[in-house]
Amino acid sequence: MPKILELEPHVADLIAAGEVVERPASVVKELVENAIDAGAGIVTIEINDGGMTFIRVTDNGCGIASADAKTAFKRHATSKIHCAEGLESIGTLGFRGEALAAIAAVSRIAMTTREAGANEGVLLSLEAGAVKDFAQAGCPEGTTIVVRDLFFNTPARLKFMKSNRAEGASVAATVLRCALSRPEVSVRFIKDGKSEFHTPGDSRIDSCIYSLFGREFSFGIVYAESSDESISVKGYVSKPEASRGNRSYQYFVVNGRPIQSKMLQAALEQAYVNLLPSGRFPSCVLHISTKLGDVDVNVHPAKTEVKFISDKQVFDVVNYAAIGALSVESTQGTTNGELDSDDSDAPAEPAFRGQLSGEAENRGYRSINDDEHRNSSSSVSGGVGAQSFAYNDQTPFRSLSPSAMAQSNADNHRFNSDFPISDHSAVHEGSSLYRPALVLEAKSSDSAFRVIGEALRTYIVVEHGNSLWLIDKHAAHERIHFNALKSDDYEPMSQALIVPAICRLGITNVSLILENTQLFDDLGFTIESFGDDSIAVRRIPSVIDIDDAEPVISQICEHLMHGVFVDSERLDSIFRTIACKSSIKAGKSSGIHELEALTERVMSGEITHCPHGRPVAYELTKTTLDREFKRG
Ligand code: ADP
Ligand code: MG
Repeated sequence: MPKILELEPHVADLIAAGEVVERPASVVKELVENAIDAGAGIVTIEINDGGMTFIRVTDNGCGIASADAKTAFKRHATSKIHCAEGLESIGTLGFRGEALAAIAAVSRIAMTTREAGANEGVLLSLEAGAVKDFAQAGCPEGTTIVVRDLFFNTPARLKFMKSNRAEGASVAATVLRCALSRPEVSVRFIKDGKSEFHTPGDSRIDSCIYSLFGREFSFGIVYAESSDESISVKGYVSKPEASRGNRSYQYFVVNGRPIQSKMLQAALEQAYVNLLPSGRFPSCVLHISTKLGDVDVNVHPAKTEVKFISDKQVFDVVNYAAIGALSVESTQGTTNGELDSDDSDAPAEPAFRGQLSGEAENRGYRSINDDEHRNSSSSVSGGVGAQSFAYNDQTPFRSLSPSAMAQSNADNHRFNSDFPISDHSAVHEGSSLYRPALVLEAKSSDSAFRVIGEALRTYIVVEHGNSLWLIDKHAAHERIHFNALKSDDYEPMSQALIVPAICRLGITNVSLILENTQLFDDLGFTIESFGDDSIAVRRIPSVIDIDDAEPVISQICEHLMHGVFVDSERLDSIFRTIACKSSIKAGKSSGIHELEALTERVMSGEITHCPHGRPVAYELTKTTLDREFKRG
């Protein structure tokens, strides 16, 4: 048997680093958590190249004594717990004492830090875990950590990184979650030299939400709160009319820690059961506080999941908070809550803005003015259709709705050079939008069936042999598309959009999309990032309607949300989404050729059930009919 040896410490560190430091976003998460644990009121995060070459996190927290600086980088070195009992009531974000050691093991890291009240600070730098430099240094109180060249010494890990853009989007999503979880901390995020967002740090959840998501989102939410003897919840939930195509705007914070939880999602969504159609989801930012001993935060390496002593109790409190908020909303129809309790004279809506524009400037952070808002926030065009931005004239983006497209036709030639139009382009004589015809080819012309017609705009009525058949045209069409998407030789046909569709989907979705650009390409979408929370869609699969582009992308994100890998089951759900949206709808009448083509495919036995498992055809035999009519 080979000899058993203890691993060298730096090898052990590298192994441990793999767990804690997966990508730039995980580094940023750990550093921001350390800053918050240090009691910082202001935290600034800067990254370049998606965080791969440069990450800097600066805080004004308690700093580290020069005597402790090197210890902080040792594995299992922490100031946050001192004994096993400590694990039972963790009030800090960190406690494992491994983040700094893990990050240092796979990067070039430098820390300057000065303890509050100390005369001088210290500079410490390490490379691949080994100390390179250690010196006294003049620096402000607090701590700055710079991480360069992440994974420079672990090429295998480097290979797993996505594009800088995708990594940067993931960092942005992480910082946003941290910022939302701590409204008392002013968080500023700078990406490639550009300030992306900045929260005021005034302890108000509403102003934090406003600074991150903007005015439109803020007007779509209502204050929610509820508590029992040991748990309290407060925050905001969306009004039913402000629902979204997926769950990416559901944010839960437990004792100041952003977490993911199916149970909490269910508690929220149950409040909307009779208010939202299926496929629409509420948004929320809910802060849940419990006694520290009532949750176990030590169940997940990245600490993004927690275990409650009583799921049922937490479920109920969250559920009541949402139900209560919605019932207040339906009787008053206005934003309520925190604002009123702080300043009873302030009318709810303007307070959102007044609060920000007044206080904001004083605190040295800037809120957007009306003009900027007009230029950067979205307005919904045509109900569930893609959202469109009202950009200024220099920006070659235009509204997406067909009517707006018609109006902007005159401008189109101007954009053509920027956005070349391909063979299956979106231009069509007489109309600004080309809606691809449903191409369904009947397999043979001498069919043994006779299409009698269409009933109830839903069913095709067919005579075939000794039977009468009813075919659900939507279900049949959906299955045909689903099979086509699944087939190995599927070649996505896409249509170029004259004017890219700008969809404001939120930072989390944008990050998911950028991580999965190949998948979207394979499906026939061409998508580029457009600011942190939006995407520009340049091509869409020919089979879907332009108005369905945003809901389809949003639903795909929902399928991608849980887990890293796109497995075959998840791919099937994505195909189902596209197939459903691309199929002729029940309730719309179809031409005879379409009906015949569909019937041919069903009668040939090729398809029997829709992708969701519903049957596509129903047979009424002559025998059954004769029996019903007492013919013999
Ligand atoms: P943990 O956060 O789990 O304790 P880390 O490796 O992240 O472990 O940090 C080790 C220690 O370094 C912390 O316990 C803390 O004492 C100190 N530390 C790290 N970052 C900061 C910071 N930004 N400000 C003050 N102290 C810090
Ligand atoms: Mg830590």
